Parts: sequence; C-alpha cells; structure tokens
Amino acid sequence: MTAVVAERPDPAPSRPRPGEAPGIRELLAAGKPSFSFEFFPPRNEAGERVLWNAIRRIEAFSPSFVSVTYGAGGSSRDRTVEVTKRIAAETTLRPVAHLTAVGHSVSELRHIIGQYADAGIRDVLALRGDPPGDPKGAWIPHPEGFDHAHELVGLIRQLGDFTVGVAAFPERHPRSRTWAEDIAHFAAKCRAGADYAITQMFFVPEDYLRLRDRLASVGCPTPVIPEIMPATDVRQIKRFAELSDARFPDALALRLEAARDKPDDAHAIGVEYATAMAERLLAEGAPGLHYITLNRSTAALEIHQNLHLDSLE
Ligand code: FAD
Repeated sequence: MTAVVAERPDPAPSRPRPGEAPGIRELLAAGKPSFSFEFFPPRNEAGERVLWNAIRRIEAFSPSFVSVTYGAGGSSRDRTVEVTKRIAAETTLRPVAHLTAVGHSVSELRHIIGQYADAGIRDVLALRGDPPGDPKGAWIPHPEGFDHAHELVGLIRQLGDFTVGVAAFPERHPRSRTWAEDIAHFAAKCRAGADYAITQMFFVPEDYLRLRDRLASVGCPTPVIPEIMPATDVRQIKRFAELSDARFPDALALRLEAARDKPDDAHAIGVEYATAMAERLLAEGAPGLHYITLNRSTAALEIHQNLHLDSLE
C-alpha cells in the first residue's frame, strides 16, 4: 500500500533571511542563468580526495548550487548525507541533496529530511528513483513508502521551508507510455510544490526545446534547468546513454570513436560539443545549466568558462 500525502497547505513563499544568499527559487526568478554542478558520493578514501579536489576548484567559481546524487542503497546513501552535510558545513557552496523513494518508508524519508534540516540544508531534489540492481526492472514501492515523486515532493514541502527540485525528461521518461502521460505526471510534481526541475542528460538541444514547448502548452511555468554531460569518453557516454535511454548523435559518436585512443582529442571534442549545446540552450532562454562532473571538475569548468556567463547582465 502506498502512503497518502495530504495536499500541501500553501506554505508562505520562502524569502532569503537577512544576510543570507538568495535561494534557488529567487535566483531563477531573477532571470540570470544559474550554473550548478553535480557530484556523486565517493566509494572510498581515494574517491573522497578526488571529489574534494573538484569541490574546492568549483567553489572558486561561486556556482549557484551544487548537488549530490543519492545512492542506490546502503552505505552509499549514508555517504550522500555525509558529503552533503560536509559541503554545507565546510564550504561556501549551497548543497542540494538528491533523495529517492527507493526502499524507504515514509518515516525513514522524514528522518533523512530532518537530518538535512538539522544541518541547515534547505534544498532537496525529490526523485522516485529506479529499482535497485536493474534500473529497467519492475518498480516495487516500499510497502509504507511512495510510488511516485510527486508524493515525496509533497512530504518535503509539508516538513518545512525547503526549495524542492524534480526530474524532467527531454526524451520522455522511459516508463511513460505517451507524452501526454509524461507531461501530466510532471505537472503533478509541480502542483505538489516543485520549484524547478533538472533534466536527464541529453545530447540533442531540440529535445529540450520541445519539452519546454510541451510544458508551456499545458501552462506549466516551472523552470527546467538542462543537464549538461560533457561527452569526453565514448565508451562511458554510450553506457550512460543506454542506461538513461538518451539518444547520442551519430556524428558526435563518430568523432569520439576516431579519438578513442587520443584522450586529449576526445576531451576537446566533448567540451566543444557541450559548449555549443549550452550556448544554444541559453540563447533559447534556458534558465541555467547543471553540469554532471563525475567528481572531476576540468571538463565542466572548461565549458563554463567558454560561456563567459559573468559577462551576462
Ligand atoms: P516520477 O516523477 O515518479 O516518474 C516515474 C515514472 O512514473 C514516469 O514514467 C512517470 O510518468 C510515471 N508516473 C508519475 N506519476 C504517476 C502516477 N501518479 N501514476 C502513474 N504513473 C506515474 N536516481 C537515483 O537513484 N539517485 C539520484 O540521485 C538521481 N538523481 C537524478 C537527477 C536527475 C536530474 C534526473 C533527471 C534523474 C535522477 N535520478 C536519480 C534518476 C531517477 O530517479 C529516475 O529517472 C526515475 O526513474 C524517475 O524518477 P522521477 O523522480 O522522475 O519519478
């Protein structure tokens, strides 16, 4: 049985407290593109060092926020919480905690959200998540948990003055049978209280633009930040693209294949492609850019610097 969350009782809009940096809601409302970076919880001490190296380099650029993905289970989830709290405590960055409903009862979800609140973290990306082990397998909700992300959005908004993000899918969520269904379910997350969305990775800018038009056609005004994945390694990208069902342009695949044994060339191709895509998306009015870093800062920062966002008014 899926727990039912009551309708959100219209919380007062959150405003920055005196002396506090503006939140994501305010940043997006101000109209200047946000830029943000995504990390994952490291698996060991060596990974931890690599991650913190990237965090410190990125911190110097004062991004709008950084986010930490939520592990599929067990200790990686604890590490998500630890890393997110440490970012809040030891850096000047605004951390966004990803949280999924996978394998959690509602009371466990409440507990995790409470831990974030205790640590002063007010930004959560609310996700349904995928079945552990086989992301494309049958979805089985926790017997005392949630079936879909909109329920988690509602819970987080009930629990306090959080800014809540959700996932959006430029190529449609693979489990949605039609676009109409996909858009209706996305709109339900917004009605439940989502302030903004971040997309799944994609490599064809028109897919994002079509999604934006579909949302506009149903009157859904929620800002949707495109996720930028620097395609610098053809093997890795093809694996990610298969997992996420993202289509990968043949021309880009051919160029990266030709540079398979020349990592510097492949890096330059990936950065060049992502820069052009980001420029196009911003020119078309995308509210920001969210870079996947894979815990390394170089490619994402190169793209960011190529865009000269600081010069935008
Ligand atoms: P939902 O919005 O619940 O949608 C899932 C499917 O259910 C869709 O097909 C939707 O149409 C359908 N649906 C929704 N509501 C209903 C309803 N009422 N009735 C019937 N069908 C419905 N995964 C992780 O494990 N950890 C992460 O940190 C993580 N971060 C992510 C970050 C981003 C930016 C994105 C785009 C994805 C991320 N994911 C992560 C993956 C995500 O959890 C999966 O893509 C998951 O399959 C969908 O999550 P959702 O929140 O969109 O789910």
